[in-house]
Amino acid sequence: MGAVVFDRQIAGEGTPEIQWQAWSGLGQLPLVTLDDLVPPACRAMVLAPHPDDEVIGFGGLLSMLAARGSPVLVIALTDGEASHPGSRQWPPAKLAEARISESLAGLRQLGLPPCSQNRLALPDGKLAVSEDFLAQRLAELLQPRDVVFSTWQLDGHPDHEAAGQVAARVCSQRGCRHWQAPVWMWHWARPGDTRVPWPHLRRLALPANSLRNKALALAAHRTQLVPQDTGAPAVLPGFALARMQRGFEYFMPVEATL
Ligand SMILES: [Zn+2]
Repeated sequence: MGAVVFDRQIAGEGTPEIQWQAWSGLGQLPLVTLDDLVPPACRAMVLAPHPDDEVIGFGGLLSMLAARGSPVLVIALTDGEASHPGSRQWPPAKLAEARISESLAGLRQLGLPPCSQNRLALPDGKLAVSEDFLAQRLAELLQPRDVVFSTWQLDGHPDHEAAGQVAARVCSQRGCRHWQAPVWMWHWARPGDTRVPWPHLRRLALPANSLRNKALALAAHRTQLVPQDTGAPAVLPGFALARMQRGFEYFMPVEATL
């Protein structure tokens, strides 16, 4: 929270879920199937700028892939050590340790083993300074038939945007399919917002068991769900969680995002 990227400001409570649900445009976005997103012979590589983004943006997708027995690799870009600035309860090193455990617990709820995750431990909040290193690691980790999922490169959080930009660059060089997911967009944008390429967004319907697994995985991220000892509110309060527990997840192909 609090990050500002040009006019995509993440502040306050953002657009309430009730407004999104009242907007007919949301339900008119074209559906996409699991096989459309990740053909059965392919591996899915999911880039999570912070521990919890893999659940918020892709938890339902990951649960469906786990149920299908598809190979999955989640790349944890940072350990999320900057979510509690000034906290005595959660100094950065202790927080990073807790968030790594929360992420593994969340993946378990989605049906994925710990070996599905690869941690890069890049600096939280400063991903942009590590872009070249990240591009190099991604290029090393990518396999020819991978489908890459990242946060949207105009998502409003600098780390989310850096992850999207680097993934777009590497995927274009390697000829890999790439989908981007909005995460904080649902906070700063409004229904029909002209800053969002709505015609390109696709939605994946989540079956009931995947939706349940996603809710359990979100609940594993305890450090993000409670108010902080500094008096700061929870990183993911109820109004934010409401936007993350829809029956759909949303993706756009990378050529639509540039
Ligand atoms: Zn994030």
